[in-house]
Amino acid sequence: MATTLMRNTAPREHPGRYYGFIAAVTTIAVMGALGVAVFGDATYVGPFDAPFAFWLTAGLALVAELRPTRWGGLWMSPIASIFVVYVLTTMITWGFVPALIAQSGAIALLGLQVGYAVWRAVYNIAQTALALTAAWLTWTVITGGQMWTGTLTQLFGVFAAGAAWTLTSTAMVALLMRMRTGDAWHTHAWQWLKSEWPLRATQTAIAPILAAAAVQSWWLVAASAIPIFSVYRILQTAAEREKQADRDPLTGLLNRKGFQQAAEAKLVDAEETGTTVAVMILDLDRFADVNSALGHDVGDKLLVELAERFMADKPPGKAIARLGGDEFAFAWAELDGMTDPLECAREIRARLDKAIVIGEVSIEVDGSVGVAVFPDDGRDFQTLFRHADIAMDESKKRAGTYARYAPEFDHHSPERLMLLGDLRRALDHPDAPGVNLYYQPQISLATGEVIGAEALLRYHHPVRGMVNPAEIIATAEHSSVMRMLTERVVDIALRRLKHWDGEGYRLRMAVNVSVRDLQSPEFTDYLTDRIATYGVEASRLQLEITESALMADPRRVVDNVQRLSDLGLGISLDDFGTGFSSMQHLRRLPVTEIKIDKTFVTNLIERADNAAIVSTTIDLGRALDVGVVAEGVEDEKVRKQLEDWGCAAAQGWHFAKPMSADDFDRWLAHHRPDR
Ligand code: C2E
Ligand code: MG
Ligand code: MG
Repeated sequence: MATTLMRNTAPREHPGRYYGFIAAVTTIAVMGALGVAVFGDATYVGPFDAPFAFWLTAGLALVAELRPTRWGGLWMSPIASIFVVYVLTTMITWGFVPALIAQSGAIALLGLQVGYAVWRAVYNIAQTALALTAAWLTWTVITGGQMWTGTLTQLFGVFAAGAAWTLTSTAMVALLMRMRTGDAWHTHAWQWLKSEWPLRATQTAIAPILAAAAVQSWWLVAASAIPIFSVYRILQTAAEREKQADRDPLTGLLNRKGFQQAAEAKLVDAEETGTTVAVMILDLDRFADVNSALGHDVGDKLLVELAERFMADKPPGKAIARLGGDEFAFAWAELDGMTDPLECAREIRARLDKAIVIGEVSIEVDGSVGVAVFPDDGRDFQTLFRHADIAMDESKKRAGTYARYAPEFDHHSPERLMLLGDLRRALDHPDAPGVNLYYQPQISLATGEVIGAEALLRYHHPVRGMVNPAEIIATAEHSSVMRMLTERVVDIALRRLKHWDGEGYRLRMAVNVSVRDLQSPEFTDYLTDRIATYGVEASRLQLEITESALMADPRRVVDNVQRLSDLGLGISLDDFGTGFSSMQHLRRLPVTEIKIDKTFVTNLIERADNAAIVSTTIDLGRALDVGVVAEGVEDEKVRKQLEDWGCAAAQGWHFAKPMSADDFDRWLAHHRPDR
């Protein structure tokens, strides 16, 4: 297993320094212990003169060590046990050397059990010997080194000795961690102390009681083993409970906090060994639908079943977590056996292939996995996690099953963040120049008259000049700027509509809205307010919704679109045919119009397949009684063909390119229907 392997190896960059440290500590410990044994342990009791109570105590120390527990957080998986209570008791009852023998025996046994290399076991014995030496010196300074008689000074001495033992061993562990990770040693020391001190304090407090029993008779030592082991169990349960704080109560998988700890441990090992770690996030599609259609009970069962599928034949070392809701996360390191991150993502995704059966219902689950790999896609947990999330989002947008992070998915690249900041500043001032609308006329194919216009965003950046609207939308859509932007667009468009009214043109206005707008009910309130303020009929405003916009959170979007439709607004499905579930949207939404995407329209004369798609869509619109607008009409042949098929309206360069407000007015004044 990788963790054991790590303990038995030195860090790659400076093995010399590491082994040097080990050798130095071992030498100091041996000298110190020898010094105390020879010169300082006046009360030395040779093992063969020792009473049976001593043998019993030492034996119990070994037994205690045979049942070690994992204590505290996962950060270095410390193994704590109760041998310290017996060691301290032995020390204050029979002296330093017997305590050293009991302690070293216990640590050696632990080494055997955990599978330490010999040098590592020897180092551990040395390290604890050093702690015991510190404890003995403290005890001697306070009590004069005389054996346990039960005075108050001695009681104080035991506490001080216990503290010295704990602090020394903590410092040693932290120093060794520092040799591995290069972090400041006191952060490790502090973390270790925080998780260790309740156990150590309890053990220290029991030692004088046990000593009092030991000087009385061996059978009192035997009897005291029962309460001591009970206390141990209680502490172990508490530790277990503390571990529960890292778990998701529903599925038993790790939670976000536990996942971070597990992944960070893998990153430390990978950094040291120059290997890779894959961090993956899986998000289920339409899980909210399952919850609302079948109830939260079924939703919960589905998550539990999924967790079981993920855990089934899980390779050791792979961390699996539920992050809350319908999100799962995975971390797997090359050291644990991961070879290909994308293969790993495919494997996770494949576990969704079979429908989940809960009671009578069979549920098809779908989802997307985002992958970020250490060190290429990020060097720390936070970055990798964020990048995996971005990759997951991207995979979802493309209706794919998995995607690995690529910088271009990131809408928060420094360049885009700057654009976002500039855009926000431009929107903060109602009259600041920069954000503007161009208008492209929409023409009735039957009469050749202008029926309205589509408002198209134009942003003039002070340095970059005109910025492509698609880039602006992609940048703003993930932030609160989108709302400000759409509100500005709606405001300018309605003002223009009012202006046309004044000029005697009764047109309609088509405005594009984004995913983010449709997810919050406030947008509806804003529209209602603006329509009333400008005093135009709601039916003259047409909202163009793109299909990708509907993918995000269908239920909330559907609810909000319904509210807008109830207000009397026209709902237009933009870029029809390019999305993934056009037909489904047509059924679920109160659509009043379809806009056939320009990729089908522009070249329909040359391409029979596009011609078939366009003519069928026009028929579909007629059958469903919704309007049809063709976009991207660039020449007369296409216009004529559309008219022959009975398409109601069209827009495109053939009629006019998008124009500034003034240009549009001039164009309008001169436009004559060509029949
Ligand atoms: P869209 O809503 O499908 O807009 C039509 C796009 O086709 C416009 O691109 C328009 O300039 C272009 N176009 C019009 N006639 C022709 C033609 O004959 N041939 C060709 N090849 N193209 C034509 P534009 O202005 O670059 O806008 C791109 C997209 O950005 C829009 O696609 C829309 O999805 C989005 N967008 C524009 N303004 C806004 C806005 O205010 N809010 C939101 N949310 N999205 C907007
Ligand atoms: Mg549009
Ligand atoms: Mg379009």
